[in-house]
Amino acid sequence: KAKSEGKNRYIFFSAEMIEELEKRIETEKILLDCLKNKDFKLVYQPQVSSKTGEVHAFEALIRLKNYNISPAEFIPVAEETGLIVEIGYFVIEEAVRQIKEWIDKGIEVKPIGVNLSAVQLRDESFVSNLKEIIKKYSIKPSLLKIEITESALMEDKERNIKIIEQLKEVGIQIAIDDFGTGYSSLNYLTFIPADYIKLDKSFIDKMFAKEGKKEVLDGITFLAHQLNLKVVVEGIEDREQFNYLKSKGCDYMQGYLFSRPVDKEEAEKLFAKRFEV
Ligand code: C2E
Ligand code: MG
Ligand code: MG
Ligand code: MG
Repeated sequence: KAKSEGKNRYIFFSAEMIEELEKRIETEKILLDCLKNKDFKLVYQPQVSSKTGEVHAFEALIRLKNYNISPAEFIPVAEETGLIVEIGYFVIEEAVRQIKEWIDKGIEVKPIGVNLSAVQLRDESFVSNLKEIIKKYSIKPSLLKIEITESALMEDKERNIKIIEQLKEVGIQIAIDDFGTGYSSLNYLTFIPADYIKLDKSFIDKMFAKEGKKEVLDGITFLAHQLNLKVVVEGIEDREQFNYLKSKGCDYMQGYLFSRPVDKEEAEKLFAKRFEV
């Protein structure tokens, strides 16, 4: 761009831009290192049934073993650099391996959800790789749940919906993640073959804010149920919100009110737990 504007032009980088760039490069180095040494781990956060207080499922969330960097920071870097594909396979295999380990221990396991990046959907052999992993550990496919955001799905709509359909055929469960943050076209819910929508924390917080319209939540829950989708609410921190959302028929709740994401030893104890609802 600068070139086309003539010869004597300069591009200025602000100190913040350079700092940001340096941070990204540093993060990329860390991720490469973690991949080499398999220095990732998963933590698990329960989704609690609003009606019974039982744990219905877990969401697996990635952490770096030796660094305190949040996924919100490193996942975008992993996506830009393409490292997310390998990281994503690690996450899926680790979750499936963990399910198998729990089954072998005689635990009555619940489904585990993993987050999927749009970048990974571009991998031609994604579906067959996923089938391979499930076969390798011979678990029931319905014990695996894929969480994908609405904006990721819309990146290459036709193709991605086909992939989701294939995953459904395998028997994998599908959740639309971060609902309420992107386009939020209620229309597309009618043609994505999902099992759950997950209402995003920021969306819920907005609805509960002073000028918010929490009645909207009625409509969304109603529509979701009409379409045979269960509603999961993310980021529930207080009782008041919980009670309201429960009264509106939201099916499952995930948030600090019940539990933070915990490591596998801790998660194992939660299968049999009944939370107060
Ligand atoms: P997400 O999929 O929407 O996950 C929910 C996030 O909300 C998690 O943050 C979780 O720890 C946090 N959370 C849950 N309950 C509460 C609550 O009551 N209050 C607050 N303030 N936060 C709550 P986390 O683990 O930092 O992950 C952030 C995002 O990073 C995830 O958002 C997801 O988009 C992405 N991510 C995490 N793990 C993976 C992964 O393995 N693969 C990919 N592609 N993305 C991942
Ligand atoms: Mg998620
Ligand atoms: Mg989410
Ligand atoms: Mg979210």
